[in-house]
Amino acid sequence: MRWALIGASDIAATQVLPALRELGHEAVVVVGSDGERVADYAARHGIRRGTVSVEEALGSGVDAAYVSTTNERHAAGVHAAVGAGCHVLCEKPLAASLDQARAMVDAAAAAGVVMGTNHHLRNSPVIRTLRGLVADGTLGRVVGVRVAHTTLLPERLRGWRLGNEAGAGVVLDLTVHDVDTVRFITGMEVEEVAAIGMAQGLSTGGADAVAVAGRMSGPDDLGATLHLHDAFTTPHAPSAVEVFGTAGSALATNAMSQTPDGEVVLNRDGADGVLVDVGERENLYVRGLRAFADAVAGHGEPPCTGEDGVRSLAVALAVVESLTSGKRISLGITDGIA
Ligand code: NDP
Repeated sequence: MRWALIGASDIAATQVLPALRELGHEAVVVVGSDGERVADYAARHGIRRGTVSVEEALGSGVDAAYVSTTNERHAAGVHAAVGAGCHVLCEKPLAASLDQARAMVDAAAAAGVVMGTNHHLRNSPVIRTLRGLVADGTLGRVVGVRVAHTTLLPERLRGWRLGNEAGAGVVLDLTVHDVDTVRFITGMEVEEVAAIGMAQGLSTGGADAVAVAGRMSGPDDLGATLHLHDAFTTPHAPSAVEVFGTAGSALATNAMSQTPDGEVVLNRDGADGVLVDVGERENLYVRGLRAFADAVAGHGEPPCTGEDGVRSLAVALAVVESLTSGKRISLGITDGIA
């Protein structure tokens, strides 16, 4: 496949471009907002062309666009790509507002192009293993999930994420991934959240650390508790996802990672601490992009659809609302987002 990269970003250079190349795809052109910088970016990363014109880029015979600008600019990139008839893979969070995100998904559907959200954790072997343990009944009915998305934000990423602008902050960066991951593992929707946030020294705007409590439910269950700890400020804190069920519990270590690391440990029927085989440890971005290309070829859906991106954003925005209002926020999305 031939791609346009919309956004001369770190994630495009460090993860997505190498993954595209591993699959034999080509990044034909990269779009940036500064001519000199995008030309330099193209040269450094071996991309044929850098341009400030998204129209020119999308008119150069590409099949798909990968949008990885800052969050508040995703919508413009997606609409441009869809308008040019390109399939589009958009970074998370899809947008800074739910209306924008919904309009992006609707536009892609109306144009008949494939749209995916790059929640890469759906491709993680340990996350997929947790999902399997829920789906095959090993854990019984899910009664709770705990996520620690704890990291020390690398120096090179300490820019717009830490400010006050639309799309910044730990919730739209990390919590949104947690929500998608938990939905993927359990098949449940988050119905209600209450959050406490703080600035622990990195942020120049909103929260750089949050604790979220929530309630999830699926069609035939009694509800499950949700606990999220998301922070840019925690060195020496490997991430983790723990799923608690009526028949067992499972802990995935190093689970919220860009690399296929981590283990899954199962506690069940008196046999505690059993290591579960997580299967092939394929690069998460390679796996996701292969599935996206399959969807473009008419085989299935991307691992995370545009609609999934709307749902993770809806919960993340509810967490932001809880932080600013000090209230519990109900989503009312069991039957679809209002
Ligand atoms: P970057 O800060 O690297 O890039 C975002 C934009 O900032 C670029 O598109 C570029 O704008 C501008 N920019 C970058 N570097 C410079 C610079 N040195 N000087 C001036 N402008 C600069 O962002 P990330 O790669 O960290 O994140 C991009 C998107 O990807 C976000 O939506 C983020 O949430 C998402 N993301 C997803 C991950 C995943 O694994 N799914 C992981 C990391 C990020 P322009 O292109 O207009 O020149």
